[in-house]
Amino acid sequence: MAARRGVSRRGFVGGVATALGTIGLGPTAEAWARRSRGSGYPFETGPEDEYDAMAKLANNENPYGPPESVVKAITRAMKYSNRYGYPDSGLTEELTKHHGVKAEQVLLAAGSGEILNMTCTTFLRDGKLLVGSDPSYNILYSRATNLKSDVVRVPLLPDFRQDIPALIRATRQNYRDVGVVYLCNPNNPTGRLVTKDEVRQLLDGIPEDIPVLIDEAYHHFVDDPSYATSVPYVIEGRQVIVARTFSKISGLAGMRLGYALAPRNLVQRMRPWGTGTINALVRYGGVAALRDTDAQAWVKKVTIEQRGKAMQALRASGYETIPSDANFFMVNLRRPVAPLIDEFEKKGVLVGRPFPPLNDHLRVSVGTPDEMDRFMVALKAVMATRPSARAG
Ligand code: PLP
Repeated sequence: MAARRGVSRRGFVGGVATALGTIGLGPTAEAWARRSRGSGYPFETGPEDEYDAMAKLANNENPYGPPESVVKAITRAMKYSNRYGYPDSGLTEELTKHHGVKAEQVLLAAGSGEILNMTCTTFLRDGKLLVGSDPSYNILYSRATNLKSDVVRVPLLPDFRQDIPALIRATRQNYRDVGVVYLCNPNNPTGRLVTKDEVRQLLDGIPEDIPVLIDEAYHHFVDDPSYATSVPYVIEGRQVIVARTFSKISGLAGMRLGYALAPRNLVQRMRPWGTGTINALVRYGGVAALRDTDAQAWVKKVTIEQRGKAMQALRASGYETIPSDANFFMVNLRRPVAPLIDEFEKKGVLVGRPFPPLNDHLRVSVGTPDEMDRFMVALKAVMATRPSARAG
């Protein structure tokens, strides 16, 4: 993913120098770039260093990069990069084994974002309604708007959980017009999960022929026994589409790989709307990523550790945080975050965009320990400036 916005050389040097100066890390931006890269892989440095040196806490990525097993599989597959044709990497088969589903229930895509888009095109293009929580992952809502479909947005509860009874009511009231119901679990941007009982309540509470898209992009970071994946509903034959991605736990966001698991009838309807372009390299990387359960466990562990540490430090400094089961969290800065985001960027820290109506909440992705330190330092500096001076 490209930098959230252009980063000028001057802005970069200033931002990093400020961060380095404040936390007393001393020497050069080059040294910082090496430290913040974090993964330990021998990735070459190059003209992208300006971007590399930012603490990237804006897009809920995996800051450690893909594990060595995946890098090796991708490197081996490089020999196919000049080919349109290449052997089957076995990714669909690996997914069937991994999830206990049939091949006809698997739909691959260039990122789960493509799955979300395909779902919209398939089920909303006749002017049908999308029902979902607000705020939630926005790509569906903008896609629905592009398709000239209306969205029934159901506000979150005061504790930022999704309001399942209200989602059921909104779906039932509009039954004949609803094309798809969207449930992001855990939700982006809040990080809050929907329990397995609530998922069942939703599915049992709405007409069974309405497709429900359950977006499990952050599934791998959940550690709460009240949560469960919704894949068993697909196996049961319910009209459920589960979206998964290799972008988060497997560190492959830039390689674009995701998939849906859904009953055959839904897969057949969705398939024609995909681009069908997934590169050869990531097909091999995906197989290795699924097999490398140790790497997944490690990423989950360090992410939860860093998330807990950062949230605790924030609470100790008097900020309220929203409980999170994902690789990001929200902190209430008690003033509009929109102007603050630019201030963070000047200090070399990229943070999430505003998510109305949670205008005072900042979404922070969980980065490496160094990145989280830089965030805390930047936060102190940003919050020390007077609101009027900042807002301009
Ligand atoms: N779903 C959610 C909830 C997300 O937050 C994201 C990306 O941040 C995606 C889907 C899309 O991920 P990708 O297209 O990289 O698989």
